[in-house]
Amino acid sequence: MSKRGLLVVISGPSGVGKGTVRREFMKNEDLNRCYSVSMTSRAPRAGEREGIDYFFVTREEFEKAIEEGKLLEWTEFVGNYYGTPLEYVERLRDEGKNVILEIEVEGAAQIKAKCPDVLMIFITPPSMEELERRIRGRRTEAEEIVQQRLAKAEREMTYVGQYKYVICNEEVDLAAELISVIIRNHMKKQNAE
Ligand code: 5GP
Repeated sequence: MSKRGLLVVISGPSGVGKGTVRREFMKNEDLNRCYSVSMTSRAPRAGEREGIDYFFVTREEFEKAIEEGKLLEWTEFVGNYYGTPLEYVERLRDEGKNVILEIEVEGAAQIKAKCPDVLMIFITPPSMEELERRIRGRRTEAEEIVQQRLAKAEREMTYVGQYKYVICNEEVDLAAELISVIIRNHMKKQNAE
Protein backbone atom coordinates (compact mmCIF):
# COMPACT_ATOMS: atom_id res chain seq x y z
CA MET A 1 0.00 0.00 0.00
CA SER A 2 1.27 3.49 -0.73
CA LYS A 3 2.35 5.68 2.18
CA ARG A 4 -0.10 8.23 3.51
CA GLY A 5 0.56 11.67 2.03
CA LEU A 6 2.05 14.57 3.93
CA LEU A 7 -0.06 17.37 5.34
CA VAL A 8 1.70 20.67 4.59
CA VAL A 9 0.50 23.95 6.10
CA ILE A 10 1.68 27.22 4.55
CA SER A 11 0.93 30.37 6.56
CA GLY A 12 2.15 33.92 6.70
CA PRO A 13 0.67 37.37 7.15
CA SER A 14 -1.98 38.62 4.79
CA GLY A 15 -0.32 40.15 1.71
CA VAL A 16 2.99 38.29 2.04
CA GLY A 17 2.45 36.53 -1.28
CA LYS A 18 1.68 33.04 0.05
CA GLY A 19 -0.60 32.30 -2.87
CA THR A 20 2.02 33.29 -5.44
CA VAL A 21 4.73 31.22 -3.76
CA ARG A 22 2.34 28.30 -3.35
CA ARG A 23 1.30 28.34 -7.00
CA GLU A 24 4.97 28.47 -8.01
CA PHE A 25 6.15 25.47 -5.99
CA MET A 26 3.05 23.51 -6.94
CA LYS A 27 4.28 23.58 -10.55
CA ASN A 28 6.76 20.87 -9.46
CA GLU A 29 4.85 17.71 -10.25
CA ASP A 30 7.39 15.48 -8.51
CA LEU A 31 6.01 16.85 -5.24
CA ASN A 32 2.91 14.68 -5.81
CA ARG A 33 0.88 17.50 -4.33
CA CYS A 34 -2.63 18.76 -4.41
CA TYR A 35 -4.16 21.89 -3.00
CA SER A 36 -6.89 21.82 -0.41
CA VAL A 37 -9.54 24.29 -1.56
CA SER A 38 -11.03 26.06 1.47
CA MET A 39 -14.58 27.03 2.17
CA THR A 40 -15.28 30.72 2.86
CA SER A 41 -18.18 33.08 3.46
CA ARG A 42 -16.16 35.93 1.90
CA ALA A 43 -17.43 37.30 -1.44
CA PRO A 44 -15.32 36.26 -4.47
CA ARG A 45 -12.73 38.81 -5.66
CA ALA A 46 -12.48 39.62 -9.35
CA GLY A 47 -11.10 36.61 -11.21
CA GLU A 48 -11.64 34.10 -8.38
CA ARG A 49 -13.32 30.87 -9.38
CA GLU A 50 -15.68 28.61 -7.46
CA GLY A 51 -14.03 25.31 -6.51
CA ILE A 52 -10.58 26.48 -7.62
CA ASP A 53 -9.78 29.41 -5.36
CA TYR A 54 -12.46 28.70 -2.75
CA PHE A 55 -15.83 27.10 -2.25
CA PHE A 56 -17.91 30.24 -1.72
CA VAL A 57 -20.80 29.71 0.69
CA THR A 58 -23.15 31.79 2.83
CA ARG A 59 -22.54 32.29 6.55
CA GLU A 60 -25.48 29.94 7.25
CA GLU A 61 -24.01 27.19 5.06
CA PHE A 62 -20.64 27.61 6.76
CA GLU A 63 -22.19 27.40 10.24
CA LYS A 64 -23.99 24.20 9.20
CA ALA A 65 -20.66 22.69 8.07
CA ILE A 66 -19.16 23.54 11.50
CA GLU A 67 -22.09 21.93 13.32
CA GLU A 68 -21.88 18.80 11.21
CA GLY A 69 -18.14 18.42 11.96
CA LYS A 70 -17.19 18.74 8.30
CA LEU A 71 -14.19 21.02 8.86
CA LEU A 72 -10.67 20.04 9.91
CA GLU A 73 -10.21 23.59 11.20
CA TRP A 74 -11.91 26.93 10.77
CA THR A 75 -11.62 30.55 11.82
CA GLU A 76 -13.14 33.96 11.40
CA PHE A 77 -10.79 36.37 9.65
CA VAL A 78 -11.66 40.07 9.17
CA GLY A 79 -15.37 39.31 9.47
CA ASN A 80 -15.54 36.21 7.25
CA TYR A 81 -15.39 32.48 7.89
CA TYR A 82 -12.66 30.32 6.40
CA GLY A 83 -12.24 26.55 6.87
CA THR A 84 -10.68 23.36 5.54
CA PRO A 85 -13.01 20.55 4.39
CA LEU A 86 -12.01 17.46 6.38
CA GLU A 87 -13.19 14.66 4.09
CA TYR A 88 -11.24 15.90 1.07
CA VAL A 89 -7.95 16.19 2.96
CA GLU A 90 -8.27 12.73 4.51
CA ARG A 91 -9.19 11.04 1.24
CA LEU A 92 -6.27 12.54 -0.67
CA ARG A 93 -3.77 11.74 2.07
CA ASP A 94 -5.05 8.16 2.15
CA GLU A 95 -4.43 8.01 -1.61
CA GLY A 96 -0.81 9.01 -0.92
CA LYS A 97 -1.07 12.61 -2.12
CA ASN A 98 0.73 15.41 -0.29
CA VAL A 99 -1.98 17.90 0.63
CA ILE A 100 -1.09 21.60 0.74
CA LEU A 101 -3.10 23.96 2.94
CA GLU A 102 -2.69 27.71 2.67
CA ILE A 103 -4.29 29.00 5.85
CA GLU A 104 -3.93 31.64 8.55
CA VAL A 105 -2.22 31.11 11.89
CA GLU A 106 -5.15 30.27 14.20
CA GLY A 107 -6.39 27.51 11.92
CA ALA A 108 -2.82 26.24 11.63
CA ALA A 109 -2.62 26.04 15.44
CA GLN A 110 -5.80 23.91 15.48
CA ILE A 111 -4.28 21.53 12.94
CA LYS A 112 -1.02 21.29 14.86
CA ALA A 113 -2.99 20.24 17.95
CA LYS A 114 -4.94 17.59 16.00
CA CYS A 115 -2.27 16.27 13.62
CA PRO A 116 1.18 16.18 15.23
CA ASP A 117 2.77 15.02 11.97
CA VAL A 118 1.81 18.23 10.09
CA LEU A 119 4.64 20.01 8.26
CA MET A 120 4.35 23.69 9.20
CA ILE A 121 5.94 26.38 6.99
CA PHE A 122 5.70 30.15 7.63
CA ILE A 123 6.38 32.75 4.95
CA THR A 124 7.65 36.16 6.13
CA PRO A 125 7.91 39.44 4.23
CA PRO A 126 11.36 41.05 3.80
CA SER A 127 10.09 43.83 6.14
CA MET A 128 6.81 45.14 7.58
CA GLU A 129 7.09 48.23 5.31
CA GLU A 130 7.25 45.97 2.28
CA LEU A 131 4.25 44.03 3.57
CA GLU A 132 2.18 47.23 3.85
CA ARG A 133 3.20 48.18 0.32
CA ARG A 134 2.05 44.76 -0.95
CA ILE A 135 -1.29 44.91 0.90
CA ARG A 136 -1.99 48.39 -0.50
CA GLY A 137 -0.83 47.30 -3.94
CA ARG A 138 -3.76 44.91 -4.13
CA ARG A 139 -6.09 47.95 -4.26
CA THR A 140 -9.27 45.93 -4.13
CA GLU A 141 -10.25 46.78 -0.61
CA ALA A 142 -11.54 49.75 1.39
CA GLU A 143 -9.10 51.56 3.71
CA GLU A 144 -10.88 50.14 6.75
CA ILE A 145 -10.27 46.57 5.55
CA VAL A 146 -6.65 47.41 4.67
CA GLN A 147 -6.16 48.67 8.25
CA GLN A 148 -7.71 45.50 9.66
CA ARG A 149 -5.46 43.34 7.49
CA LEU A 150 -2.37 45.30 8.58
CA ALA A 151 -3.28 44.93 12.27
CA LYS A 152 -3.96 41.23 11.72
CA ALA A 153 -0.62 40.85 9.89
CA GLU A 154 1.24 42.27 12.92
CA ARG A 155 -0.48 39.74 15.17
CA GLU A 156 0.11 36.90 12.71
CA MET A 157 3.84 37.56 12.75
CA THR A 158 3.86 36.69 16.48
CA TYR A 159 2.86 33.07 15.66
CA VAL A 160 6.07 32.34 13.80
CA GLY A 161 7.35 30.18 16.69
CA GLN A 162 4.77 27.43 16.05
CA TYR A 163 6.26 26.71 12.60
CA LYS A 164 9.08 24.31 11.86
CA TYR A 165 10.37 26.27 8.85
CA VAL A 166 10.44 30.03 8.19
CA ILE A 167 11.00 31.24 4.64
CA CYS A 168 11.42 34.88 3.59
CA ASN A 169 9.55 35.82 0.43
CA GLU A 170 12.10 38.25 -0.95
CA GLU A 171 12.03 36.49 -4.32
CA VAL A 172 9.16 34.22 -5.28
CA ASP A 173 11.29 31.70 -7.22
CA LEU A 174 13.73 31.26 -4.38
CA ALA A 175 11.03 30.94 -1.71
CA ALA A 176 9.23 28.36 -3.88
CA GLU A 177 12.41 26.38 -4.44
CA LEU A 178 13.23 26.32 -0.73
CA ILE A 179 9.75 25.01 0.08
CA SER A 180 10.10 22.35 -2.64
CA VAL A 181 13.38 21.20 -1.08
CA ILE A 182 11.73 20.94 2.34
CA ILE A 183 8.81 18.90 0.99
CA ARG A 184 11.10 16.57 -1.00
CA ASN A 185 13.17 15.99 2.09
CA HIS A 186 10.10 15.05 4.12
CA MET A 187 8.85 12.79 1.31
CA LYS A 188 12.16 10.91 1.46
CA LYS A 189 11.85 10.51 5.21
CA GLN A 190 8.24 9.32 4.87
CA ASN A 191 9.27 6.71 2.30
CA ALA A 192 12.19 5.53 4.39
CA GLU A 193 9.95 4.82 7.42
P1 5GP B 1 -8.12 35.94 1.67
O1 5GP B 1 -9.39 36.63 2.04
O2 5GP B 1 -6.99 36.92 1.45
O3 5GP B 1 -8.29 34.98 0.52
O4 5GP B 1 -7.68 35.04 2.90
C1 5GP B 1 -7.51 35.60 4.17
C2 5GP B 1 -6.69 34.66 5.04
O5 5GP B 1 -7.42 33.45 5.29
C3 5GP B 1 -5.37 34.23 4.38
O6 5GP B 1 -4.35 34.29 5.37
C4 5GP B 1 -5.65 32.81 3.97
O7 5GP B 1 -4.46 32.03 3.93
C5 5GP B 1 -6.55 32.36 5.09
N1 5GP B 1 -7.33 31.16 4.75
C6 5GP B 1 -7.76 30.75 3.53
N2 5GP B 1 -8.41 29.58 3.65
C7 5GP B 1 -8.38 29.24 4.96
C8 5GP B 1 -8.87 28.12 5.71
O8 5GP B 1 -9.46 27.18 5.20
N3 5GP B 1 -8.64 28.13 7.04
C9 5GP B 1 -7.98 29.13 7.67
N4 5GP B 1 -7.79 29.02 8.97
N5 5GP B 1 -7.50 30.20 6.99
C10 5GP B 1 -7.70 30.25 5.67
